[in-house]
Amino acid sequence: MSVPSASRLHALNVDLHCHSTVSDGWLEPEALVLRAIANGVELLALTDHDELGGIAPAQGVARAHGLAFVPGVEISVSFAGETVHIVGLGVDPECAELRAGLAALCAGRDGRARRMGEELARVGIPEAFAGACRFARNPALVSRAHFARHLVASGVMPDVKTVFDHYLVRGKPGFVEHRWAALEEAVGWIRAAGGVAVVAHPARYRLSSIALGELFDRFIAAGGEAVEVVAGAHTEDEMRRFASVARQRGLLASRASDFHGVQESMVDVGRCNPLPADLEPVWSRLPATAAALAAAASSAR
Ligand code: AMP
Ligand code: MN
Ligand code: MN
Ligand code: MN
Repeated sequence: MSVPSASRLHALNVDLHCHSTVSDGWLEPEALVLRAIANGVELLALTDHDELGGIAPAQGVARAHGLAFVPGVEISVSFAGETVHIVGLGVDPECAELRAGLAALCAGRDGRARRMGEELARVGIPEAFAGACRFARNPALVSRAHFARHLVASGVMPDVKTVFDHYLVRGKPGFVEHRWAALEEAVGWIRAAGGVAVVAHPARYRLSSIALGELFDRFIAAGGEAVEVVAGAHTEDEMRRFASVARQRGLLASRASDFHGVQESMVDVGRCNPLPADLEPVWSRLPATAAALAAAASSAR
């Protein structure tokens, strides 16, 4: 295959970050892929939190419909007192090192979720753990998103966004301190699985600019290669800010809706803004991109 031109790469409808019911998305992996296809996606990564179980069913549907698919994961990391998310793209879901790391992370989730339930009971919200579990399709992965949905469904809060203004975050009821992976561990697991590591939605972290600089220093030193420049949670200003970070640090750029469901996501799967034209897309490094380009070329004929 000849080297694809930058414009052909940029013109693909790419979405490299979304969630299924295997973590805290609303759609089953199969339905998520069908929604992506209906929305015109040409290259899709499924990136469930700390879980790989959605990859096989999503890949099966993608293959049946000729959609180029990237196996991915979004790993929870503790950094400078904040939770940071590192996306892995193009990972081998059978990699033993990645699987062992994620199993250890998920093992801590159940105890954390039960303690979150106890903390909410102390402020007069009983049975929240059971309530959150009713929204979780995967019992190994009960997340704050499931608690938030329960608090909305039971009338405590009007919507999920408002939940996170009043509950479940540091200093508010229902927050439970938890130690996730170290940054270097997460990047190491992704690289061991043959993947490319990406800093997810960097504008969302409550880190000083010095701490954020250290995050990128250590991420790059560990072998991390990319940053989400276009992200569902980024404003235009934030997009420009992290486009500059990508340029200054020589990082590849990713494009990511972080779609969880129409109920609570600002950006639908496959409806991300384009990347600034001078940035190198992270998908230039993903094997599935060749199939996406070939499919785009044959449908244009
Ligand atoms: P956990 O991994 O259990 O800490 O849950 C984190 C998840 O909660 C995220 O992946 C989001 O789905 C959701 N979440 C966290 N903060 C917010 C927020 N401010 N607004 C909406 N959803 C949020
Ligand atoms: Mn989530
Ligand atoms: Mn995230
Ligand atoms: Mn996400």
